[in-house]
Amino acid sequence: MRVIDQLAALQAIDSKLDADRRRYAEIQAALQPPASLQAAKSTRDEIEARLEHWRRERSQRETAVKDQRARIQAQEKQLYSGRVKDAREQVALAKNVESLKKHLDTLEEAELEAILEVEQAESDLAEAERTLAEEQAAWAQKEAGLQQERQALIVHARQLKSQRQPAANRLQPVILKRYEALRKKLGGVAVVQMKGASCGGCGASLPTALRQQVHGSDVFTCPICGRMLIDR
Ligand SMILES: [Zn+2]
Repeated sequence: MRVIDQLAALQAIDSKLDADRRRYAEIQAALQPPASLQAAKSTRDEIEARLEHWRRERSQRETAVKDQRARIQAQEKQLYSGRVKDAREQVALAKNVESLKKHLDTLEEAELEAILEVEQAESDLAEAERTLAEEQAAWAQKEAGLQQERQALIVHARQLKSQRQPAANRLQPVILKRYEALRKKLGGVAVVQMKGASCGGCGASLPTALRQQVHGSDVFTCPICGRMLIDR
């Protein structure tokens, strides 16, 4: 096997490893739960807090109505007991009952408001729980897929690394060092196929003499980008 073919074989392995690393980084980034899931959780929490608030209000307002009714009942009992003989006192008592009843209307309105708010919040909460469950299910499915791909990448990269070791060992240290330096400098690609009469890396048209040399057994580099050239 020519040295350039050995280099090309190593380049093929390294390019695959680079692609695996890029995809791995993409997966790591994609493994963050989406903003829509966070938003669905926040919405659910807000509605839950609103529901709790209105349940407390409803309970307090119910008590207020009950107390007011008891107060009215007590006053009416006194009014109709026959024990209050004085006419002016009777009128005052009746007026008081009337004013208590007026205030009862206000309290009952407030109670109804709380009952309706609780109902609305309960229905909103059910809707928010449904949305959240959908978001969670979608994310769980996506996450499982990503984790599976991540595991497959780890296995694939391990296989490539075990192939890389013997491929690198076949090369002379000085050539391997040059290859590594080129890879570092040229975005990971040190060995390129010739494309007709041009460099497959930078596209420069190559002199005829060089093109003929590339067919030989030695390693030739593109005079423009410096990549090692292979003719097939
Ligand atoms: Zn080039």
